Amino acid sequence: MNKLDSGLLFSALTSRGFVHTDKAAEADIIIINTCSVRKHAEDKVLSHLGRLKHLKKTHPRLLVAVIGCMAQRMGEDLLKHDTVDIVAGPGQLAEVPSLIDQVLERRENHIAITDHIRRPDSDEHQRTLDEFEMNYDSDENHLKSQAFIRAMRGCNNFCTYCIVPYVRGPEISRPPEMILEQARRLADAGIQQITLLGQNINAYRYEQGDRIWTLADLLEKVSDIGGVHWVRFITSHPGKFDDSILQVMADLPKVCPYLHIPAQHGSDRILAAMNRGYTSAYYLALMDKARATVPDIALAGDFITGFPGETEDDHRATAELIRKVRYKNCFIFKYSPRPGTRADEKLEDDISDEIKQRRNVELLDLANGIAEEDNKRFLGRTLEVLVEGPSKKPHLNAAENPENPQLIGRTAHDYIVVFNGPNSLAGTFTNVTITQTAPLTLFGNWSPSNL
Ligand code: SAH
Ligand code: SF4
Repeated sequence: MNKLDSGLLFSALTSRGFVHTDKAAEADIIIINTCSVRKHAEDKVLSHLGRLKHLKKTHPRLLVAVIGCMAQRMGEDLLKHDTVDIVAGPGQLAEVPSLIDQVLERRENHIAITDHIRRPDSDEHQRTLDEFEMNYDSDENHLKSQAFIRAMRGCNNFCTYCIVPYVRGPEISRPPEMILEQARRLADAGIQQITLLGQNINAYRYEQGDRIWTLADLLEKVSDIGGVHWVRFITSHPGKFDDSILQVMADLPKVCPYLHIPAQHGSDRILAAMNRGYTSAYYLALMDKARATVPDIALAGDFITGFPGETEDDHRATAELIRKVRYKNCFIFKYSPRPGTRADEKLEDDISDEIKQRRNVELLDLANGIAEEDNKRFLGRTLEVLVEGPSKKPHLNAAENPENPQLIGRTAHDYIVVFNGPNSLAGTFTNVTITQTAPLTLFGNWSPSNL
């Protein structure tokens, strides 16, 4: 969501004549798009603002804007910071360009956040946001050939640990014609992979007369668009997961067989305390159904370690669930109490950081070990990848080779593939033969005949 918001603002500002620079010292405006999901993410922003304070001494006209969830959560408190000129929440994204104009003209600080974030939004405000999204033209900041489209805003699930419903507001499904028009425009502009976004994307519902649009309908219509090669969607919630979604994944070759479907925990007691609305048996049955319907489906999950009251038995239940599901990859987070959430208000953060960390590492090692074993099946196989561009980290055979630098791409199942090839492949689909595997990466050979 944050990447999309940054991309939208980037498009809006470049269309007004602003130019992007990677160097903070050269910038007239610095925009920090923030996340509030864990305290660590907010701490990083605060220390970044501390560093910008020094830069502002030598560049007094530098304008600093803090946008996103932390802006919504902290509001005025952020504006009090010496460095900050603009604070704007996710719902005020469309206003940021005009706030910038106002500050540049008058040098007055501005705040734009939603006062009553959980109240139903006005239709007019939704239209403003929708129109802002329509102008998105996949910018240079993004990977070539791929773009995000928001299918839904907000969340109503209120998992007890989570700040998202309080900073991104109520769940709203965007009108299908807007989503499809955006998809068509992006495809006309050369976009080949579209990712539909929502915090709880399988809950997509839009009533139009007596027709109800679902996620399966959207996936089908987007994959019908000429020029679109792959369609993805993130993130799914296991509750109310309709079979029709698995069916379109199985039936439509353009719908990528990759499902990011966080379980969050393996213990029913903790799942109930988290207000996730399902048991581990329900989740496992859903994963079995997913594999039965889409046999080669790649599953990815999120887990939280050290939720209040988590015992060693609870922790073992999560390990057991990971062993049963055999994920492609897992994101594992240490519980971070978020102000205003029910877990923070009602439950004591009673698991020490040391134990959270130990359990986190244990789960990560387990998940990586499983992925390492499972990835061996790719050895010798040739996979289609969408090439993202040069690999940022040097991997195997990173020898300097200006004509064939190390590139990174992803398969339809979302496996990361690293190989040597010309930069001109960025943004194209090509084939790579896998020669080596690791838990999170496949390595391979590419030759011009693979095209
Ligand atoms: N809507 C998505 C995820 C949104 S937040 C979903 O429900 O799956 C992304 C991930 O951050 C979550 O899946 C969860 O694992 C983690 N997370 C959210 N709040 C957290 C908290 N307070 N502490 C630690 N991890 C958290
Ligand atoms: Fe947060 Fe739960 Fe909503 Fe995901 S589904 S955004 S974890 S409240």
